[in-house]
Amino acid sequence: MSEILTKGWAAYDEAANFKPITFKRAALKDDEILLKTLYCGICHSDIHAARNEWGVTKYPIVPGHEIVGEVVQVGKNVKEFEIGNKAGIGCLINSCGECEACLNSNEQFCSKGAVWTYNSVDYFNDNEITKGGYSNYIKVHKDFAINIPENAPLELIAPLFCAGITTYSPLKFSKVSKGMDVAIAGFGGLGVMAFKYAKAMGANVSVIARNDTKKQIALELGASNYYNDINNVDKRFDVIISTIPSKYDVLAYARVLKYGGEMAIVGLPPIDEKVSISLNALIRVSHKKIYGSLIGGIKETKEMLEFSLKHEIYPEVKIISAEDINKAYDDLLNNSSSFRYVIKFDE
Ligand SMILES: [Zn+2]
Ligand SMILES: [Zn+2]
Repeated sequence: MSEILTKGWAAYDEAANFKPITFKRAALKDDEILLKTLYCGICHSDIHAARNEWGVTKYPIVPGHEIVGEVVQVGKNVKEFEIGNKAGIGCLINSCGECEACLNSNEQFCSKGAVWTYNSVDYFNDNEITKGGYSNYIKVHKDFAINIPENAPLELIAPLFCAGITTYSPLKFSKVSKGMDVAIAGFGGLGVMAFKYAKAMGANVSVIARNDTKKQIALELGASNYYNDINNVDKRFDVIISTIPSKYDVLAYARVLKYGGEMAIVGLPPIDEKVSISLNALIRVSHKKIYGSLIGGIKETKEMLEFSLKHEIYPEVKIISAEDINKAYDDLLNNSSSFRYVIKFDE
């Protein structure tokens, strides 16, 4: 087996101006599969990473962790995939497999450190820095690839491997079920996904936004209530999923939880996005829980895909070619959109 020559698109510094790159991936291991990339979604995390907004970027960086590809090579221990199958890759490509988190299918919290799909040290492959799905070939440990059934809408599925699992996981963690009152705070791409899942789980779902621009979409999707200001909320919720990407008064949202209610915060903002809260005010919103939620494990990602296919829950997507990554970044930085850009790879 030899090294895998790969062509992709990289950012070379904080200006995040993407240019072509050619690089080599380590040769395929016995437990790995190689995918030829067909589609890769552009996640807001890609933008944060490309611009070094988490403070940990190693350049050149090739982002992309919403990947759908075709299996073109399999290691000799791989029974789960055959050449020609379609498979997905999300934020993780490997982990230690032995720690408590890994044994509980929460590989994203691996105590040795998960191997993230990009900008991560791959300790299974000579510590090479991982490069993501803005490239024509990518390899993954077989247990971290998600089987995609024949005839699934590939371009719509790609974003599910990050945006889907990020919103599905906290709804499951908070045990959302039929008849519960759920609010989605922030109604961009992630908010819309959280909304659709909560609705399919049988909840009464409301939207809390900061103006009326998304009101029509929310009502068309069947929102029970739409609020354009947290201060106008006259209802109490069992669960709130907050997808708000910038600084806000967290406790104002916790206040509209029911007794024992739970608020999950998703989406990973820049490292310097800090909130300070008054402990006095926190105690006054007693017996409500606020927690962060980072993607989900592989088992849950498979469950999420099945649920999405069954209920036909997909993001709205705009397909672009890799040459248009820079244009898409400009657009995402200047506008709040509820669709997902998805890069289509031809060759
Ligand atoms: Zn992402
Ligand atoms: Zn582990």
